[in-house]
Amino acid sequence: MDFQLSEEQRLWRKVVHDFVAKEIKPIAQEINEKEETPPSVIKKMGPLGLLGMSVPEEYSGAELDAISAAIAIEELAWGDGGTALTIEAHNELGCAAVVLFGSDDQKKAFLPDVSTGKGKLTALALTEPQAGSDLRNVKTRAIKDGDDWVIQGSKAWITNAGDSEFIVTLTISDPEQGSRGMSLILVPTDSKGLTVAPPEKKMGAGGTHSHEVRYENVRVPITNTLGVEGEGLQQTLKILDGGRISVGALSVGIAQAALEEGVRYAKERQTFGKTLKEHQAIQWLVADAAAEIHAARLMVYYAAWLKDQGKPFTQAGAVAKLFATEMAERASYSAIQIHGSYGYSREYPVEAMYKAARLMTIGEGTSEIQRLVIARKVFEDGPVRI
Ligand SMILES: Cc1cc2nc3c(=O)[nH]c(=O)nc-3n(C[C@H](O)[C@H](O)[C@H](O)COP(=O)(O)OP(=O)(O)OC[C@H]3O[C@@H](n4cnc5c(N)ncnc54)[C@H](O)[C@@H]3O)c2cc1C
Repeated sequence: MDFQLSEEQRLWRKVVHDFVAKEIKPIAQEINEKEETPPSVIKKMGPLGLLGMSVPEEYSGAELDAISAAIAIEELAWGDGGTALTIEAHNELGCAAVVLFGSDDQKKAFLPDVSTGKGKLTALALTEPQAGSDLRNVKTRAIKDGDDWVIQGSKAWITNAGDSEFIVTLTISDPEQGSRGMSLILVPTDSKGLTVAPPEKKMGAGGTHSHEVRYENVRVPITNTLGVEGEGLQQTLKILDGGRISVGALSVGIAQAALEEGVRYAKERQTFGKTLKEHQAIQWLVADAAAEIHAARLMVYYAAWLKDQGKPFTQAGAVAKLFATEMAERASYSAIQIHGSYGYSREYPVEAMYKAARLMTIGEGTSEIQRLVIARKVFEDGPVRI
């Protein structure tokens, strides 16, 4: 057993960390106040490989292993949770759908610009007003007309939809087949009849935008179907398997940042004639967060390692997502507690970290859905273990 990152992975972590320390961390408060990550910062991620992490080199991507991709998302989230989610959704949802299921022609046509920052980002549209956890209830309809699909319906909460080249859209293409009659269709955002509403007003994570998307007789060629028609739901579940690892990584990054802020403050603040760090109750908050962050990071890297080895990672990914996201909420809660009233102030960064962490137990499969996935796998195969 080897718990070391490779030399390449360590170097990559440093490259991303240095970039985030320079370009994102210093403006995290501004990002959350203005509710926008500057597009110029996102553009700079292109040459670094952050916009095409799992995209093969032949389509201008960085072709990173899953552990390196997790490290990058963790470091981005250490800088700002919302910005990290923007990049995570682009890589692990929009791009991943094309990488996993696109044809060579589709990859050539759609991946190079979005992977390098020349083009805009990408999005994956699954959720609808009446269907989030229960994707079998998706109603967005795709009907064939000659060589085209005609798409009618609406999606909700679609991250990056307002700033994407294309939106991979989960549709019902053959209602008689039920969950075997769904298809993923690549919809360019300049398609006639596609409308993206203004960003939703969220509790936090200002560095990421999610939108309602409406499809009114949107016409795209049938050749824009990703993979096999009718397998959209099964494809979606595979995409979400990978997404869980990176939302886990994102949560580790937020928790790490929150712990660092808590430690910094505990060293400075005096109460009852001592610094906070000398009070045992504060030490326990710090110790619990450190222990849980370590556990979550191991879980995330283990799931990513399984993915890199080509081994099944559904349960390990769900375990990592469940634990890391709930852990990040506890760690950022503790960081606020250590700060006292200042923790509740928007002048201090822990408030934004807590609000970003809160999202992670909801997006890309809620904690309850992770528990359903884990329990199903435990009954089938037994619990995950190294
Ligand atoms: C900021 C943000 C960004 C998002 N980005 C995207 C995106 O890019 N693309 C996209 O497609 N979607 C996106 N979503 C939507 C997100 O994936 C869904 O909100 C999530 O899957 C939950 O769906 P829902 O909101 O419809 O909740 P529901 O499915 O209605 O669930 C409500 C509650 O009931 C619980 N629940 C539901 N079913 C069960 C069950 N069988 N057993 C036990 N408990 C259950 C849930 O866990 C939850 O607590 C985003 C959401 C947010 C908030």
